[in-house]
Amino acid sequence: MGKTSQLPGFYKLSPEDRLKVVKEFAGLTDEEMEILRSTGPLKLEQANRMIENVIGTTGVPLGIAVNFFINGKDYLIPMAIEEPSVVAAASNAARMARVKGGFRTSSTEPVMIGQIQLTGVKNPSKAKDAIISKKEKIIEIANEQDPMLVKLGGGTKGLEVRVLDTSSGSMVIVHLLVDTRDAMGANVINTMVEAVAPFIERVTGGKVYLRIVSNLADLRLARADAIFAKEALEGEEVVDGIIEAYEFAAADPYRCTTHNKGIMNGIVAIALATGNDTRALEAGAHSFAAMNGRYKPLTTWKKTPEGDLLGRIELPMAVGIIGGTTAVHPVAKICLKILGVKTARELGEVMAAVGLAQNLAALRAMVTDGIQRGHMKLHARNIAVMAGAKGELIDEVAERLVRERKIRVDRAKEILQELK
Ligand code: NAD
Repeated sequence: MGKTSQLPGFYKLSPEDRLKVVKEFAGLTDEEMEILRSTGPLKLEQANRMIENVIGTTGVPLGIAVNFFINGKDYLIPMAIEEPSVVAAASNAARMARVKGGFRTSSTEPVMIGQIQLTGVKNPSKAKDAIISKKEKIIEIANEQDPMLVKLGGGTKGLEVRVLDTSSGSMVIVHLLVDTRDAMGANVINTMVEAVAPFIERVTGGKVYLRIVSNLADLRLARADAIFAKEALEGEEVVDGIIEAYEFAAADPYRCTTHNKGIMNGIVAIALATGNDTRALEAGAHSFAAMNGRYKPLTTWKKTPEGDLLGRIELPMAVGIIGGTTAVHPVAKICLKILGVKTARELGEVMAAVGLAQNLAALRAMVTDGIQRGHMKLHARNIAVMAGAKGELIDEVAERLVRERKIRVDRAKEILQELK
């Protein structure tokens, strides 16, 4: 009998018993089993309550980006990320931004959209009118689902209706506009849209299928801007180079995807550190970037009359400091304390500032040294470890690899042999 991945009842086992099944399947050694059993700060019981079929946890480095000065306040930025250079780049850009006073930020109210898909109505525009005429009642039903949120000043604030032409005919799409305050809000909204669906069916005679939050959080935007002095960037030539690099991204989706990926390096690292939903942020950012029919950079860069560089960022920021994993994961709670943010909006604005810093650092590196120099030092250490280097030998091998500009495992092994 071959191995099967059909494991009925796997979900009912304890993590330890699941681990034994996986050991059998994958031929894990006792040493590998021990690694999976040592779960670090997130305890196995906590992990087992967070997702399904848990057998362990995995570690990601947690670093602190320094130098951030935002709206006249100093912040230390916790970042959870496996990619070398991101934390250093953010810190570096934040240091340069300080010369002209750091970052200034703003944001909209934390309003998210919940969608209700109504089908099977004979006259969509009549259905639309019927829904709009019951707007107050629909909002009332939605808000009954979360009195706590309403008490805090949040809750459903508005309703919009669109008739959408699709290849299976017209649909009526209802949007609930929900102020989710300090929560990311997906659960809150999903509960609300499910609660109002039967009433909407009754009012219109139609059939509701989907009732779900939209990750295109284009009403919940965070913005940041900063001026980078030409002296801090080592000359006006670098300013010009960065603007050329930005114009390249603005005109070409192949470049723009990587431009925006670099921005998300910083934003997602904070999201992961604080227990926020990284996928929601990625989905929202990239669809926002494409909203006008062409994929655009999330940042803009231009030269000031003085010859300095002015950068701006604006993107959806569906993050919370309460609810979801933020208050469950012990490290996430500590990261929020390190950040010292008091509201979800403040967190989102800080994340926008870090995204802008990350973009500046990447653009600057590319128009000056090339991206590899910064990357390569840490990368070389990883390659040295992969080749089997331990202790002091790691740095020695890494340095040789960088000097020779041959950052490859085969060369690392040779160097290791020579050094031993
Ligand atoms: P949640 O369900 O824990 O809701 C937060 C609750 O906290 C609310 O009910 C509110 O009453 C209460 N609350 C107390 N103080 C508050 C304050 N100051 N501001 C706001 N609320 C306050 O969490 P959530 O944010 O609704 O859901 C987030 C989770 O949903 C994330 O883990 C996400 O991964 C997940 N999720 C995401 C999607 C998606 O993005 N498509 C879909 C489903 C679930």
